[in-house]
Amino acid sequence: MREYISLVCKECSNRNYRTPKKTQQTEKLELNKFCKCCRKHTAHKEYKK
Ligand SMILES: [Zn+2]
Repeated sequence: MREYISLVCKECSNRNYRTPKKTQQTEKLELNKFCKCCRKHTAHKEYKK
């Protein structure tokens, strides 16, 4: 089964992206993504509902 997670900007806590994640993968994702709110690339961490 495929699980969808949200990616949250660490600086403004805006949920900017949704991405599928394999259920076996246990470590937290952390990606550098462009944040519309901050208008720059920031670290995004995964957020589970
Ligand atoms: Zn941001």
